Amino acid sequence: MAKYYIKTFGCQANKAESQRQQTYFESRGLRLAPNWQQASEIFINTCSVRKAADDRVYALLNQMQDYYHSIPRAQWPHVVISGCMNRYADRLKKRFPVVSEVLTSDDTNFQYPATRPADDPQAFIQISVGCNSYCTYCVVPYARGPERSRDFDTIIGEVEQAVREGHHEITLLGQNVNSWGLEKVQTARRKQIFGSLSQLPANADQYQTFTGTSPFVQLLRAVSHIDGVDKIRFLTSNPWDFHDDLIAEVISNKKIDRYLHLPVQSGSDTVLARMNRGYTAATYERLVTKLRAGDPSIQIGTDIIVGFCGETEAEFAQTLAFVKKMHFIVAFVAMYSPRPGTVSAKIYRDDVPFAVKKRRFEILDKIINRDQLASRPKIV
Ligand code: SF4
Repeated sequence: MAKYYIKTFGCQANKAESQRQQTYFESRGLRLAPNWQQASEIFINTCSVRKAADDRVYALLNQMQDYYHSIPRAQWPHVVISGCMNRYADRLKKRFPVVSEVLTSDDTNFQYPATRPADDPQAFIQISVGCNSYCTYCVVPYARGPERSRDFDTIIGEVEQAVREGHHEITLLGQNVNSWGLEKVQTARRKQIFGSLSQLPANADQYQTFTGTSPFVQLLRAVSHIDGVDKIRFLTSNPWDFHDDLIAEVISNKKIDRYLHLPVQSGSDTVLARMNRGYTAATYERLVTKLRAGDPSIQIGTDIIVGFCGETEAEFAQTLAFVKKMHFIVAFVAMYSPRPGTVSAKIYRDDVPFAVKKRRFEILDKIINRDQLASRPKIV
């Protein structure tokens, strides 16, 4: 019997996509191979968020290319590459002849439902793909294309199906999850500031005063009204799109997990401007203050990039002071590495030496993930 193998790198969205791919393989009668050497169809779902992520994929492809070197080509498996490394399609096929196909962002396949582990209470439901935010360091808008929201009824149908299968904790996924349904508005306002990266837009705060109920809040309410849904999480939120109605919903809707992941990336306004994040440190702080004032049990985790292009000691000191003040429960700290094709790789210099990035990484990691954690009262 023909066998398949799936290797997934990176984020939860990739994992959800791989679960749908598994259903596709199974629907064609293939069975899971214990390793890639025994598979006739291989699906590699890639991540390109940092150079180290690229390197892990290259290492696997090198291994595969070596392995098949002495095997007649007619016996090679069908190897499909998906995910954020799709923008290297030509290079990958040239360097690794074992690669048969590279899927584009248009190939995102929602027609197959996900195959989820039966004993996992969680179901990851992708509600959008792509991103219109164009943070200068990020490959997603190029690799995954512009933001496309899946339609309301399809999402609700998938949640209901997941509940019927015994998954009572729902995680809604999107590269910029809380802008679901707003891509047209978002494109217009991003265009307004894009190209002016030397300073934050004068109107950086206006997006915190969104009027009306945002589509994402309406979706959260609908999901929480489904019988059998016990807990709702959502990943990943851009603080820029975290409007007051979402704050109110998180505070009042106790099915929403009290842990929120809210990437800040830097505590320095000048760095945030170069990153095109569209908010200031003060805006971010106000957002978190409102959340905590509404429910003190809310815990915030974050992502931070150290050593972004031109990051001075003074700018890093601002980030340091900021994280001390914010009491994050956890932070995924990363050292900046330029990603080919992104705006930061094109217009800035990666001029912070590796040793400096490493020192800044260690300082933040120690403060947030060890010292603060140890001294923080346990919240139940
Ligand atoms: S919001 Fe920024 S960091 Fe997140 S996926 Fe979009 S461009 Fe990348």
